[in-house]
Amino acid sequence: MNMNLCDVSVVKRLMSKYQTGTKKSFGQNFLINKDVPYSIASESISYHRQVCGGKKSAVIEIGPGIGSLTSELCQVYDKVFAIEIDKALIPILAETLAEYDNVSVINEDFLKINLDEFIEKNLGECTVSVCANLPYYITTPIIMALLEKARNSDGTSKLTSITVMVQREVAMRLCANEKKGDYGAITASINYYGEAKRLFDVTPDSFLPPPKVTSSVVRIELYPEPKYKVESEKMLFKVISGAFSQRRKTLINSLSSSFSNITKDKIGEIISGLGFDLNIRAEKLSIGDFCRLADEFARL
Ligand code: SAM
Repeated sequence: MNMNLCDVSVVKRLMSKYQTGTKKSFGQNFLINKDVPYSIASESISYHRQVCGGKKSAVIEIGPGIGSLTSELCQVYDKVFAIEIDKALIPILAETLAEYDNVSVINEDFLKINLDEFIEKNLGECTVSVCANLPYYITTPIIMALLEKARNSDGTSKLTSITVMVQREVAMRLCANEKKGDYGAITASINYYGEAKRLFDVTPDSFLPPPKVTSSVVRIELYPEPKYKVESEKMLFKVISGAFSQRRKTLINSLSSSFSNITKDKIGEIISGLGFDLNIRAEKLSIGDFCRLADEFARL
């Protein structure tokens, strides 16, 4: 029989039966509002089906907790791989997911997994998405690992989409409109790989324990073919991080602090050669502009 994994008394009973509790150090805030895991899974599978049609589908979940989102994913995806760092939760997941035969739970630190190899080995024949209520203390490293490492040799992504719950403030940065407000290094980097959309907000009372801030669900829809071509991706990300390293400074000043081997005059020449004012700031550049800038640096 189905257990309601969002019922606080069920969560507490499972925790006490397996002699564990929620751990702040692992960013554990479990969902206790049943509508939320259902909606996250629906947003993930609806886009996945729209892009991949009826092909065999798989999803990777980072941090299943006690399985509330996992059980929703098991009902809509053909295969589910749930990677959980906390070994105390593994026997709980064995109990809560016992009725599903399409789920594999892996007790690992997601950031230590060789993602490329993992997908090749386990999910070679499937179309793959990622869906998670992320541990907030490592949101950015997880998203960057998903974008940078899950790739084919021709530069295309091995993933269809990444649907994740993050802090609302981070969501605003991930989904910022080009050249406006919260636009920063992470926005420009995401724009290189795909498009990020903020889908809905979730209030703190939907979690146990409640976090201090409102959360948002974001879907990053990855380009099936690379949209931008650059001579060196390594240089692109070096230029993006250098450009945003000192937000209050102009682009020329930030870049000359980050690229100490290139003279300020040369950097100025490159910036004006691309048709920009010498006082321009990083937040005024689109990802296309960054690609052109990085190509100039790569050619030096
Ligand atoms: N999915 C569950 C839910 O929505 O109720 C739990 C979400 S909770 C915000 C984050 C989960 O990620 C926790 O279960 C935590 O133990 C796990 N976690 C934290 N760091 C991790 C890591 N490096 N690798 C894998 N899982 C991790």
